[in-house]
Amino acid sequence: MGENLNLFTSTQHVIQDALTKLGYSEEMFELLKEPIRMLTVRIPIRMDDGKIKVFTGYRAQHNDSVGPTKGGVRFHPEVDEEEVKALSMWMSLKCGIVDLPYGGGKGGIICDPRTMSMGELERLSRGYVRAISQIVGPTKDIPAPDVYTNSQIMAWMMDEYSRLRENDSPGFITGKPLVLGGSQGREKATAQGVTICIEEAAKRKGIQIEGARVVVQGFGNAGSYLAKFMHDAGAKVIAISDAHGALHDPDGLDIDYLLDRRDSFGTVTTLFENTLSNQELLELDCDILVPAAVSNQITAANAHNIKATIVVEAANGPTTVEATKILSERGILLVPDVLASAGGVTVSYFEWVQNNQGYYWTEEEVNDKLRAKLVEAFANVYDTSVNRQVNMRLAAYMVGARKMSEASRFRGWV
Ligand code: GLU
Repeated sequence: MGENLNLFTSTQHVIQDALTKLGYSEEMFELLKEPIRMLTVRIPIRMDDGKIKVFTGYRAQHNDSVGPTKGGVRFHPEVDEEEVKALSMWMSLKCGIVDLPYGGGKGGIICDPRTMSMGELERLSRGYVRAISQIVGPTKDIPAPDVYTNSQIMAWMMDEYSRLRENDSPGFITGKPLVLGGSQGREKATAQGVTICIEEAAKRKGIQIEGARVVVQGFGNAGSYLAKFMHDAGAKVIAISDAHGALHDPDGLDIDYLLDRRDSFGTVTTLFENTLSNQELLELDCDILVPAAVSNQITAANAHNIKATIVVEAANGPTTVEATKILSERGILLVPDVLASAGGVTVSYFEWVQNNQGYYWTEEEVNDKLRAKLVEAFANVYDTSVNRQVNMRLAAYMVGARKMSEASRFRGWV
């Protein structure tokens, strides 16, 4: 709880910094410092043992001046109101950075899906949609997957919403299975986005991807696809890690073999001896470091020992405020999470567009459009950082906050 309160207040601070740099008044901050709408719901579900359990869920909508709000729903025991609010603000920034016609939203249910049966999960997913149905919809607020939610959960939610409205509504939610109107390329989209950011950062730093030494912390959805994409592009992935430890080979690891041996939780390092710790991994000599695991990994304690030329944040909040300062003072190019992880929501937007027009694109078309969006977003953030002499994180918040501020002003809200 304390940690999420911190997340919320620190998000408010960066939004305030960005608005001040952009020259907006205190009134704009008053509008953007909290979600415009926050719904808390209680969802009674009959469990498999016949007993009723009442779950708490949330849906936050940060700002809908640009368009409907958009963002994932997480199922996790540590979800709370402050976290959902802060993450809805992050979604507004992400959507602004990649220039999507959306504001930010986020939802969550306090539950532990790892201990629930498929039937219980289905009833909970449907119950959540019934509880929030009045404030969501294809032109109001569009949910998507997030921590511990997947395409099956999106399918149940879409079905429930369609039944309630008595209308097939694929555009209500994104991250659906392909047969229900999902988009090609959605599953790999986050890693694709990170890859594009790495390529753009490497160009700015004069680094060739072919032969570059890459270290990836985390072997989940983003980390494992990313390691594969880098390996296929001819980079040397010299180290990877999971929650149990890290593997290192200065000549490059055999990523295809490791992917093959990985279990369903993404664990692979337990198969080997002489592994490194996750902290040692971060300090390895390399060109590109990608924290793709959990938050608060690069801190004031180790930022001076980071040897990478480029750090690309595929995880949420892996670098602390002090460490961000140290890395930028040391001339390390840091690509912040709100930019590097925007590939997911970008392809979600493409999914919604395809649902609205009822016409579906090939994976190649999706990837080309994703590339165009992210290359432009990267250039905007990088140029803002150079021209305004601010670090890449503040530059990203400035780019992210600009559109919703303008839209709120034109609407006459501020
Ligand atoms: N939950 C993902 C994110 O945080 C995806 C959101 C979406 O696809 O709308 O970016």
